[in-house]
Amino acid sequence: MSSDRIVGIDLGTTNSLVAFMQGSDPVVIPGDDGLNLVPSVVALDEHDQIIVGNSARKYLIDTPERSVYSVKRLMGRGLEDIQEELKLFPFHLADDLHPGEVLRIKLGQKTFSPPEISAFILRQLKRNAERFFNAQVTKAVITVPAYFNDAQRQATKDAGRIAGLEVLRLVNEPTAASLAYGLDKKQNGIVAVYDLGGGTFDVSILKLHDGIFEVISTNGDTHLGGDDIDNILIHIALDDIRGDMGMDVSRNGEAVARIRKAVIETKIALSSQATAHLDVELPEGRRYQREITQEHFEKLIQPIIDRTVGPCKQALKDAGLKPEQIDEVVLVGGSTRIPRVRALVEDMFKRTPHTGLNPDEVVALGAAVQANILAGGSEATENMLLLDVTPLSLGIEVAGGVTDKIILRNSTIPASATQHYTTQVDGQVNVAIHVLQGERELAKDCRSLARFDLRGVPPMTAGIPRIEVKFLIDANGILHVSAREQRSGKQAEIEVQPSYGLTDEQVESMILDSFDYAEEDFRQRQVIEARNEADTILAALEKGRQSPAWGQLTSPEKKQIAKLENALVQVRGEDDYAAIRKAIDTLNQATTRLAELMMDSAVSTALTGKTMDEADMGEGPTAPHPVAKAEFK
Ligand code: ADP
Ligand code: MG
Repeated sequence: MSSDRIVGIDLGTTNSLVAFMQGSDPVVIPGDDGLNLVPSVVALDEHDQIIVGNSARKYLIDTPERSVYSVKRLMGRGLEDIQEELKLFPFHLADDLHPGEVLRIKLGQKTFSPPEISAFILRQLKRNAERFFNAQVTKAVITVPAYFNDAQRQATKDAGRIAGLEVLRLVNEPTAASLAYGLDKKQNGIVAVYDLGGGTFDVSILKLHDGIFEVISTNGDTHLGGDDIDNILIHIALDDIRGDMGMDVSRNGEAVARIRKAVIETKIALSSQATAHLDVELPEGRRYQREITQEHFEKLIQPIIDRTVGPCKQALKDAGLKPEQIDEVVLVGGSTRIPRVRALVEDMFKRTPHTGLNPDEVVALGAAVQANILAGGSEATENMLLLDVTPLSLGIEVAGGVTDKIILRNSTIPASATQHYTTQVDGQVNVAIHVLQGERELAKDCRSLARFDLRGVPPMTAGIPRIEVKFLIDANGILHVSAREQRSGKQAEIEVQPSYGLTDEQVESMILDSFDYAEEDFRQRQVIEARNEADTILAALEKGRQSPAWGQLTSPEKKQIAKLENALVQVRGEDDYAAIRKAIDTLNQATTRLAELMMDSAVSTALTGKTMDEADMGEGPTAPHPVAKAEFK
């Protein structure tokens, strides 16, 4: 198999998937558990090994302080952006975080940035694909929500790099879903994509012209999805158990987890059958059972699914369209399997939605289609560019702390624009460029994306230098900014490192840290433990030599011990824990008689004693350095 195969990845809030193009059809690659969906859950087990996916789920209940889910909510965000998430989700952040710093999440004693956590999920998907192809996989297309800003996109790209994947393209999830249905072949039309997942709801309106997609509006609710449906059912069950059985299990984590599992099964069953049976084993040998009809279920969830109506209307309004103007409707997200949800969508957009593909796989399938296009695998779509729009305006801070917009929101990307500026002070040699994102007039009200300096401008009278600032948003939605003083030709440029983003150095060191993180960590600890054990036995041997028992050994015995001691000292300095252990064992055997002779001394215990030490895992990120204020006119 070709080793430069490009896979498509849906890095979801609840579930993640990897897919590839098999002939003319995209297919999802299952994990070794045979399942297509990898839950986006990461945990650290009792040996400090990273566990991902289905097998990590039990840690959410057993050791919540060593596990994390929904990390997508934290990607590319700062402490002040996520206060709401912290109220709603059990994220354990590192204690020593400062505003403006990259977030770090605690798993046991270790901390990881959100891109590192996402990288563990990506690594699992990469491994699944490699097992499937029996070949290395190093290139991927990854999907992101259409509303993801620059920092969130950068963080996703960083996650890919940390996982050892070259991210060839970030594709908007609704665009990917439309591609999976081959809607690009229709050339022109308006597509509405309704995505109700586990914890988020997104609606996007896409315009298709000449086979090119353009996201013309997006809306949604970042706290609405299948989880809310689960919670309603859990509350009903808890009420029943309290009322009918006189038990309060609402604070029993394990019981609630069992109820959650059971109600999700019931919910899923009710998407395809008229009634379902809920059956949960409770503490003290008790058991909760009840029938739920589809009719009752639909009544219960109506308020939840009604909350998707407002965002849909707003998205249509922003796009300047009426429901009748929608040509195609695409359903995305596991929760759109619910018949009542489908009916509501049909009612809203006056179109029968596409349902041929699994709604929780369709985004990954579309990513695989895009990957195939980039690989040049499809002639029909070879020249196809996928257009997106930038959701927020981009600009720089100018004199007086004012925002000067360079690329306006809703511009189609790739996009580029240039503006000219000059200096404010006579003889000014350095110009600070502060890159901003947002619609507000004052720089302080916009999101600060990056700062850099244009240095070494020859001293001139204020107003004479001619500084050209160029913004380019590439096909991934990532911003490149350059500044050039045209008289002197002095130039500075950056690929924007958004605030709360990671520096290249940080990403590099995370790549190194995470390189087969789990295996490496485990191996290192083995080496350290083996060395400690070697030290213990060597010290004990030294004591033995000083003891009267030494004199009772024969000369060949003493020679043999000395030889094995040297061998142990030799391998102790190397990184092969198995070799160290082997040398310890042989030396142990050779010193058994010595130990017996010394039985009444404490040394015999030391000879077989063990010590444990934790491996030290790298250093933390370095602090960013400050820059001067903008002085433009
Ligand atoms: P995300 O995009 O947020 O990662 P998914 O698209 O995988 O999530 O959707 C996950 C949600 O879909 C979960 O809440 C899950 O319970 C729900 N779900 C999956 N299958 C069904 C079904 N047959 N009926 C109802 N809900 C379902
Ligand atoms: Mg999704």
